[in-house]
Amino acid sequence: MLKVNLESLTHAKVGKRHAVIFDLGDMEIGELHLAYLKGELEFTRVPDGILMEGILKTEVETECIRCLEPFFEPVSIQFEDTIGLPGSETTPERPIRVLEEGWVDLTPLLREYIWLGLPLKPICDLRCQGLCAQCGGHIARGECVCSDEPDIDPRWEVLRTLLEEEG
Ligand SMILES: [Zn+2]
Ligand SMILES: [Zn+2]
Repeated sequence: MLKVNLESLTHAKVGKRHAVIFDLGDMEIGELHLAYLKGELEFTRVPDGILMEGILKTEVETECIRCLEPFFEPVSIQFEDTIGLPGSETTPERPIRVLEEGWVDLTPLLREYIWLGLPLKPICDLRCQGLCAQCGGHIARGECVCSDEPDIDPRWEVLRTLLEEEG
């Protein structure tokens, strides 16, 4: 969970600001595994809530579509959202709000933005050669054995055996 205390802003005058620096290590956000979460968010009291602006950077564990290996994909999340005040209704435009004790849970927004920021077809490395279509071996790790032996049509294999027997 990613919680921030905004008690100093809920009863403050419009225009009051509060910055929060994030420097978190390995963490789980729902089904997502993050290597870290870093950046700075600025919270500003606006008439109808608290405006949250800033960029957080992370690396999210995902799977390469070519080689099927897990790897960490960098994702940069840009926030520009209004957080509702305590007791306010949540709406699609304002999906989260500050609770009575001043805390707000940023997890739902963070999760949504990470999913939006993740590529649909993640690739661990643009040069990733993936798996061999014939043997399924991991090419970069040298697991493909196909190039060692030339592909021989089984019918020719029979012919070769016959020739060897005659000779
Ligand atoms: Zn790969
Ligand atoms: Zn192969």
